[in-house]
Amino acid sequence: MNNSFTNLQHTNQSECEVCGCNMSHVDALLNKSSEFPVCRSFDCQRVLRLKSSMTPALFKSHLEFDKKQIRQRREKNIALKKHVAEVTKKLQQENDKILQTTLDKHSHLTKENVRLLQIPSGYSKLAPASKTRVEKYIEHVNSIIEEAGKFSSASEVVYDQHHDAHGKMLQVEKRLNKTPALRDISDRICTMCKGGCCTKGGEHAYLSVFTLRTYMDANPDLTAEMLRELYLSHISSQSIEGSCINHSNTGCALPRELRSAICNGYYCDALKAYQKTDKQEEGAVLVVQRAYTNWNWSEPDVSNEVVNVSLVDVQIK
Ligand code: SF4
Ligand code: SF4
Ligand SMILES: [Zn+2]
Repeated sequence: MNNSFTNLQHTNQSECEVCGCNMSHVDALLNKSSEFPVCRSFDCQRVLRLKSSMTPALFKSHLEFDKKQIRQRREKNIALKKHVAEVTKKLQQENDKILQTTLDKHSHLTKENVRLLQIPSGYSKLAPASKTRVEKYIEHVNSIIEEAGKFSSASEVVYDQHHDAHGKMLQVEKRLNKTPALRDISDRICTMCKGGCCTKGGEHAYLSVFTLRTYMDANPDLTAEMLRELYLSHISSQSIEGSCINHSNTGCALPRELRSAICNGYYCDALKAYQKTDKQEEGAVLVVQRAYTNWNWSEPDVSNEVVNVSLVDVQIK
């Protein structure tokens, strides 16, 4: 038998001493002469680097600890991926049934002119905004106004995700301005959802130095104090529990022009895909709303049950 073939077979079967994974062909070749073979993952390489700086006994105890942690983490990730795959399959099967039932009931609808959109749900319990939350928000607003005042224009603000969001928002605006019916449908669907994507707004509401500086550039006569008053005047006495501090029972308490580009340009994956599709002809959108929010749908203990099914007529010209 060819010798090199035998060697490859042997090296292919090596396991990483740390995470226990079956090492790839390249990993195995790189570790061919090593008594302590490890894969090239960041975590395992980090453990390997400790070896030369420790006594064998100390390294052994570190290794046992890290091994346990890394393997537990890997098992958790595998379990999560499995859960996501199972949930995705289950929801798809349920959606297929809902679509079929709808088509059976409405003879003018076909698979070609109905688009199913699966959307999340915002939280709905209204509660007085706590003193701590309000104070945190005020502190955030004060700090970004102060910081924004140090720049003479938004172009000077250090580049971060808010700049990207601003660019994306302009693209979304362009698309929706071109097809106002698309904006109308999107608004109707967001109203049904009630802010499933606002649940991570906390007490920062995605407002940033860049947001404030951009607003200052457009309104140069406003002083920092006027800006501060403007933002704070919109604090709602009651807000949706567990959601952004500006999330009220009637939607966002902040006027659109005071919101961040992240908020103004954001659409969840379902709506984003719908807005980009070429098939926005006349027909209907079948909205399947589920109990989870935009951010927690894959968590094992979160309900994904259907809470509402609606047909929205579409007439895009
Ligand atoms: S963008 Fe999506 S998640 Fe956000 S409110 Fe609209 S439908 Fe809900
Ligand atoms: S500021 Fe308004 S749009 Fe933005 S996360 Fe909060 S409630 Fe939602
Ligand atoms: Zn490894």
